[in-house]
Amino acid sequence: MAGPVLVWSEKPGLAEELLGGAAELAKALGAGVSTAVLAAGPEEARAAEELARWADEVLLVEDPKLATPDSSVYASVLAELVGKAGASVVLTGYTLFGREVAARLAVKLKAPCATGCTSLRVKDGHLLVERTVYAGRAIARQALKIGPCVVAVAPRTFEKPSEERGGKVSKVEVAVPGPRLKVLSVKEKEVAGVAVEEADVIVSGGRGVEKREDFAMLEELAKLLGGVVGCSRPIAEDRGWFPFWIGLSGKKVKPKLYIAVGISGAIQHVAGMRDSKVVVAINKAEDAPIFAVSDYYVVGDLYQIVPALIEALKRRKGQA
Ligand SMILES: Cc1cc2nc3c(=O)[nH]c(=O)nc-3n(C[C@H](O)[C@H](O)[C@H](O)COP(=O)(O)OP(=O)(O)OC[C@H]3O[C@@H](n4cnc5c(N)ncnc54)[C@H](O)[C@@H]3O)c2cc1C
Repeated sequence: MAGPVLVWSEKPGLAEELLGGAAELAKALGAGVSTAVLAAGPEEARAAEELARWADEVLLVEDPKLATPDSSVYASVLAELVGKAGASVVLTGYTLFGREVAARLAVKLKAPCATGCTSLRVKDGHLLVERTVYAGRAIARQALKIGPCVVAVAPRTFEKPSEERGGKVSKVEVAVPGPRLKVLSVKEKEVAGVAVEEADVIVSGGRGVEKREDFAMLEELAKLLGGVVGCSRPIAEDRGWFPFWIGLSGKKVKPKLYIAVGISGAIQHVAGMRDSKVVVAINKAEDAPIFAVSDYYVVGDLYQIVPALIEALKRRKGQA
């Protein structure tokens, strides 16, 4: 029987998603599901109780040295846990920190590693993964030998688990090495409302939107649909209207509905939103590349289409 599928993420919400995927892999492998919680103190350790619902066992390591986000320290601790649990597959989240830990962990374990994976399945003793490569122009399919292998999975690849496993929390004593980096200051990121990565509906604006004030209509449309506003990179980086953008070098999103307004559909933008369930594009150019990845599209002037959509939605909601 294969060793358990071990999940770890610094974000408890993402760990929960990964546990959904781990349950599927574990079924295919005839293995169990474990999760690691690396906590600096009792507050972080509380996640262990929550995650125990979805795992057979939670391996909890509590040490104040884990307050420093040093990926080599986290990788050392996880390497020890992988050994203790005899894990066959390790899943981390594809976050900035998660992918760094995954790579270091794989080196320590001398194990194969794939990052940015959006699909995973078991076949003939291998884990078959799919990952976006060449700036989103291609999808690579790779086979990793199981036992152990390390995979950093893109957020929103898996649904949260539906079947409870009611596992136990085991406190594990591990010699946590001293961090080699020092945090000088921490600045909280300002997030108003729902974070774009969590949103079910995103109305995203591109260079077709001429003025900052014009984003008000995108915001109104997003609000009517219960969503949030996003944008392409030039809107954030060149014009400075938003603190983030969607795409290969920005945020990767996977909403139920993505409405691209005045966005051409450059490959780097598409790499960040191509996994959206339904894509709607509004663009005045008949040959806009975004149409190729859209489920529905409107060829027209966004300054006519967006207000018309808002009116129609308001009418439907009895607000007009
Ligand atoms: C290394 C690298 C990384 C990058 N990473 C990213 C990334 O992560 N995310 C990202 O977004 N970009 C990224 N880019 C930039 C990317 O290549 C494109 O330049 C960018 O996505 C284009 O943004 P846009 O679609 O808003 O603008 P444009 O390409 O200028 O498109 C504007 C669109 O609006 C349409 N339009 C204009 N007026 C109207 C109107 N009135 N009504 C309807 N439609 C209208 C036009 O037909 C056009 O299709 C990256 C580039 C590089 C080199």
